[in-house]
Amino acid sequence: AAKMLPYGVQLFHPALESRAVRRLGLAADLRRALDNGELDVYFQPKVRLSDRHLVGVECLARWQHPAHGEVAPEDFIAVAEHTGQLHRLTEVVLTMGLRRCRAWADADRPLSIAVNLSARTLLDSRFPELVHRLIKESGVPPAQITFEISEPGMLGEIERALPTLYRLRDLGVRLSVDDFGTGASSLSYLRQLPVQEVKIDDSFVQGMATDTGDLAIVRAVISLSREFGLTVVAEGVESELTLELLEEMGCEIGQGYLFSRPLPYERLEAWFSAQTEP
Ligand code: C2E
Ligand code: CA
Ligand code: CA
Ligand code: CA
Repeated sequence: AAKMLPYGVQLFHPALESRAVRRLGLAADLRRALDNGELDVYFQPKVRLSDRHLVGVECLARWQHPAHGEVAPEDFIAVAEHTGQLHRLTEVVLTMGLRRCRAWADADRPLSIAVNLSARTLLDSRFPELVHRLIKESGVPPAQITFEISEPGMLGEIERALPTLYRLRDLGVRLSVDDFGTGASSLSYLRQLPVQEVKIDDSFVQGMATDTGDLAIVRAVISLSREFGLTVVAEGVESELTLELLEEMGCEIGQGYLFSRPLPYERLEAWFSAQTEP
């Protein structure tokens, strides 16, 4: 419906409205999906650039809605955030990731898993307890688990999020600043966070082969991160040229369509076999 502004101006945004209404409807569906195990996790390879070996996977949530088809992660994560279901969503993704991680370890193939956290999760004081319990139940060594936290999200609430970050670090899991460079924070900020990894945002990685500004940013982030002893990961690696530039600049790990898209578990296994069998 039309909204009345104080100045008497009428505003009507059909697109906004339908998105909000759709999200409202999705809230109940998401609850059901979480309860019934309809949520799925895809895995995207993280590759060591020097020898192109698989070192780990990022776990990415997927939801195939029975009526609407595939819902974009950004959309259902926003729904989860606004309807108090984020904790459950993270629990589902982490549990599925840990199960696979354990299976790889048992097959003598130690791969690390990375799970995304919303900044809001860091404000939930129960979260480290949940992580502690799930890790213990899984038997996966905490050092095999990385939590990726988006830089822009982390920035606003950093003071309130710090206690959770420290408790997670004390559990022995790794922490990564995701989408680095998009939050307009200074590089010195990296030193103040208890993180072990920096993930350079795909927008810079995709631009670096053609845009000297992007290239300069990527170079600066890599060199400073290395000074600080942090692992550098480039996301959104789509071309050989980008891969070569990254390697020359000392970036250790890459992720992107050049190597593989996010894959369901079975297809990841097939991808891995194809990589390792001559
Ligand atoms: P993200 O953490 O930055 O994840 C990387 C996104 O980039 C993924 O999109 C992935 O499919 C895509 N991508 C990977 N390689 C390439 C490439 O070479 N080129 C391009 N153009 N894109 C690439 P996806 O899976 O749609 O996820 C979108 C975002 O949703 C994620 O961004 C993350 O912020 C969020 N997300 C996904 N799963 C979860 C989750 O379980 N929990 C939370 N809190 N957020 C999640
Ligand atoms: Ca991520
Ligand atoms: Ca990212
Ligand atoms: Ca990104």
